[in-house]
Order: sequence, then C-alpha cells, then structure tokens
Amino acid sequence: MHFTGRTWRPPYEASSVIIQATSGCTYRKCRFCNLYQDECFRMSPMEEFEEDLAEIKRYQPYARRIFWTGANPFSMSYENLKLRALTVRDYLIKCQTMAMFASIRDIRDKEVWQLKKLRAMGINGLTIGTESGDDETLALAGKGYTAADILEQCRKLDEAGIEYYVVYMTGLAGKGNGERNAVNSARLFSQLNSYFISVDSLTLFAGTELYQMAQAGQFIPADEKERLRELQIFIQNLQIRTHLFANTSSNFYPVTAYLPKEREAVVSELQHIMDTVSEEEMADYRRELKGLG
Ligand code: SF4
Repeated sequence: MHFTGRTWRPPYEASSVIIQATSGCTYRKCRFCNLYQDECFRMSPMEEFEEDLAEIKRYQPYARRIFWTGANPFSMSYENLKLRALTVRDYLIKCQTMAMFASIRDIRDKEVWQLKKLRAMGINGLTIGTESGDDETLALAGKGYTAADILEQCRKLDEAGIEYYVVYMTGLAGKGNGERNAVNSARLFSQLNSYFISVDSLTLFAGTELYQMAQAGQFIPADEKERLRELQIFIQNLQIRTHLFANTSSNFYPVTAYLPKEREAVVSELQHIMDTVSEEEMADYRRELKGLG
C-alpha cells in the first residue's frame, strides 16, 4: 500500500479499509492545527491508487466501506472523484460506501447534481471539521468560512442525500467565550442533519499559530472546567435528535449520548466530574497529550 503522507482517520472509521487518495491538506491555515504543516497536498496518481485497490482486493475482496485518507480528498474535482469512485467499484464489487474528510470549501465548488451523482457512485459519509457554528470563533480559528456557509453547503449535501458528520471543538473560542460559542453553535448545528456530532477539545500544540498567539498573550485558553461547562451548554441547546460522541482523547472526560433522550443524564454526569475533579488534574491530563484526537 502507498501510504506516503500522514495517515489520519476518525476513530469511527476504525473498521473501514483505508486507502490513500490524497495526502496533506489543501488549506493548512487553521490556527490550531499542526497535522499537515510540513506536507504539501498531493493526489495519489491513479496508477498508485489502482495498485492499492488491487492489493485490497487480494485480502478483502468483499470490503463494503473504504475510507480515503488525506485531510480533504473531497477537494478533488468532480471528474477526479468520479473517476476514482468508478475505479473502486471495478475492484471492490461489494463496496457501498467511500467515506472521507471534506471541508465546507470543498463542497462549495460542487453543484447539487454533481453531489447526487457522486452519492450514486458510493461517495458517502463525509467528516466535516466544522469545529464551531459561531462566526467569531470560526474567524479566530482561521477556518475561512462562516456559519451561513456551513448551513448552505450542508443543505446541498442533504439535497444530494450524502450522509455527513460534523465536529465541534470546545475551548476554541478562548477563555470566557465558551458559552457564546456553545449557544451559537448549537443553534447552527440544530439546523443541520448531521448523522452524528463528534466533539474534540482544543489542545495547543507548539508550532501552531494559536499557540504563538497564546505565548504573546493574544489568546487566553479556556480552563478545563469552562470547557466541560461549554459542552453542557452545547448539549442543552441542541434541538435535534442525534448521537453525540465526545470520547476522543482530547476530551478529559469521555461521554457519548443519544440526544435528546440522554440529555439530562449526560449533563449530570459532566456536572459530577466538574464537582469532584480538580482543575489541576484536568490540566495535567492535557499537558500529557501528544497529538490531536
Ligand atoms: S484542521 Fe483540517 S482543514 Fe484545517 S489545516 Fe488542519 S487539516 Fe487542514
């Protein structure tokens, strides 16, 4: 298999077969991210992609779901995505789903009819690192789009029938701003049809712009209890039926919930942690984290 770049997939794609379609990120401007800083964006040549498909076919000929790696393979043109999706089907006849990361920018340059065609070819299950639905936080993080853009592009996915998962990141708005971020983000996310919502929490890594801003006193990180309170507010304000997974390692206390059914239980659970664990213990946990997750 040709894995030349940093290989990164969400935890919920653990049982998908992975293949490198692209490596690196086309954007590299999110201020909290150090994932692909030293890597240029690259599309895997078709020859390489086909060799990998042939290898997968040898070991897992009946693979049903594959995950295309790279920060945003969905940035490829419609024609390129189409060619690769059809090629996957040549090799893996049972493959029903080709999932991948996508940015709001990547959806923006595609028409609904193109999205519908891609869906029909098996492209489905887009993980979108939205991070927030609050315009001030999105601007601070350097995401390059607004809450209105998220809504507009996700509506196109809804129309095309493409399933997607969005991400919310606690702590990203900085100290004192978690409540605003949670309320505004819940308002936006309640208008989306995300199959589930994945929650991370900001960890400042050396080398990122946000880390430098923190060193210079231009960004004050939220403390850990403020983040848990932010998560509570986010959950309390979400007005959709969805699954929420706040169980990656960046969350001090992992929780999952099916909303709205488990809303009260998970809010109480978070309250118990805030009441019984010290801020120092939580901060020590974050200091030990080695990567985004
Ligand atoms: S968060 Fe995603 S889109 Fe932003 S720079 Fe990192 S990899 Fe690229």
